[in-house]
Amino acid sequence: MLALHGTGIGSIAIGKALVLDSVTTEVTTHTLEESALENECKRFAKAVQRAKNGLIDLKDNLPKSSPPELSALLEAHILMLKDPLLTVETLRLIKSARINAEAALQQQAEKLFAVFDRMEDEYLRTKKQDIRQVVDRIHAELIDETKLSRVSDENLKDRILVVNDLTPADAVRFRHKKMAGFVTNLGGPISHTAILARGMRLPAVLGLHGACRMIRDNDLVVVDGNSGSILINPDKDILSQFQSKIILQQKRNRGLHSLRDLSCTTDDGVPIELNANIELPEDVDAAIAVSAKGVGLYRTEFMFMNREAPGEEEQYQAYSRVIKAIDGPVTIRTLDLGADKQVDGGRIDTSTSNPALGLRAIRLCLANPSLFIPQLKAIYRASVHGNVRIMIPMLCSISELEQVMVIIREVKNSLEQACIPFNPDIPIGGMIEVPAAAIAADVFARRLSFLSLGTNDLIQYTLAIDRVDDEVTYLYDPLHPAVLRLIRNTIEAGEQNKIPVSMCGEMAGDPIYTRLLLGLGLKEFSMDPTSLLSVKQVILSSNVTQLSEYARTALDQLDMVKLNDLLTSPELLH
Ligand code: PEP
Ligand code: MG
Repeated sequence: MLALHGTGIGSIAIGKALVLDSVTTEVTTHTLEESALENECKRFAKAVQRAKNGLIDLKDNLPKSSPPELSALLEAHILMLKDPLLTVETLRLIKSARINAEAALQQQAEKLFAVFDRMEDEYLRTKKQDIRQVVDRIHAELIDETKLSRVSDENLKDRILVVNDLTPADAVRFRHKKMAGFVTNLGGPISHTAILARGMRLPAVLGLHGACRMIRDNDLVVVDGNSGSILINPDKDILSQFQSKIILQQKRNRGLHSLRDLSCTTDDGVPIELNANIELPEDVDAAIAVSAKGVGLYRTEFMFMNREAPGEEEQYQAYSRVIKAIDGPVTIRTLDLGADKQVDGGRIDTSTSNPALGLRAIRLCLANPSLFIPQLKAIYRASVHGNVRIMIPMLCSISELEQVMVIIREVKNSLEQACIPFNPDIPIGGMIEVPAAAIAADVFARRLSFLSLGTNDLIQYTLAIDRVDDEVTYLYDPLHPAVLRLIRNTIEAGEQNKIPVSMCGEMAGDPIYTRLLLGLGLKEFSMDPTSLLSVKQVILSSNVTQLSEYARTALDQLDMVKLNDLLTSPELLH
């Protein structure tokens, strides 16, 4: 038996492994039957077409501020994808050598690289790098297709999926598949993959370096999301211990379910609002199942992944569906694309840029009004169906907020002129997820109708730890005094300006922090529906007056070990 440790999510699952190492770039050569050659050629041609479409799309949507060379470079790559030396010759090789497309592409690419290596002109020699990038693009398309064709619903049923990495786009794709759990080589606790894994309500362990190497197809794997460990081929006794734990867990979940219809008030009578985080319209069922008051965070960007961007009408339909299904407020966050959330599901290239600090969220929307305006129009149109709030992600400066307000005014004017009904008074709120916004929370609180603490990003930016880099996961610490002070500052800004402050980062859904957050004055929590009843259980037995005293001590406690002790102190646990 072998045990590995990483970041755990959810509970326990047991199943046979399905190992997909398709993200590795190693190419293996397969000899093909004569009858398979035509299909293989088609597969290659489609991959080239998809790579071309991807580049054309990228070029057409370059932000205005992009340097002109970028457009020229993309154009050059598009032309290379049309070059017969790359396409026709690879197709010829598939047929003549009767090999798979990946291998033929690699062989043809090596020939081209050799030609460039022999060139005298240094400038021309550097062009080899461009060819390599274009070849990589085709290769990625081929791999993705192989991966997808292997992962049929039937293949996945009751299996433990083992992958190197799962992008948010992959996670969306796997959401409604019937696998038992999954493990990855990469990924930290607040990566978007982890957040989606929670939403998939599946046990998972992320960031297990070497999982793809050490687990083989059909190995029996225990995924323990509680402890963040996996066991490969455990002996009978250990297996039955875990089977008993699963039964116990199911019993506990049934117990939690009995809290569903109780009103959410602390032991000393303070009402607390519990909302759900959702990613796709179909998630409303999970929110309703736990009696969430409303939706505190609707991550609309997930509707844009693995497909063509939805237009205004399709967005209107999706938002309307959620608004009609939920009685309470539905907080629609405007697109938070960029960084690790890429529409095409591509893995981000961190070697050339710093995407988390780049053009993402509201910055991306302001730079692309053609993306932002249809979304706002769709939200305003859907607002006639119920109780809607708009939330702006990653606000950093007041000027961004002012620009948003100008665009919103224009959207409202155009709807008015077209005689389309909408609610003109939708509350506009902002996410506090960069330290600048948390420090200046009062400035934002004066101009907005509500604030919501995005602790995933707030922690990332405050502690300078990339949320997708599991090498620095060990530094992720919601209890860092700087983080706690920023949270407190934001809550106080809300109190002083009489606007509600919610928290919708992962910290809000972890019952270990519930008492501390109550003590800091938080009255609205939003989380994945799977966590809601565990957090409610803590709230029902908490005394806010007593906890505010405790929170004051926590804020002054700079010794992390003591702070952790304080957090788990028995006096606070009823
Ligand atoms: C956050 O940053 O805490 C948050 C809720 O937004 P996301 O996780 O989608 O970035
Ligand atoms: Mg965020």
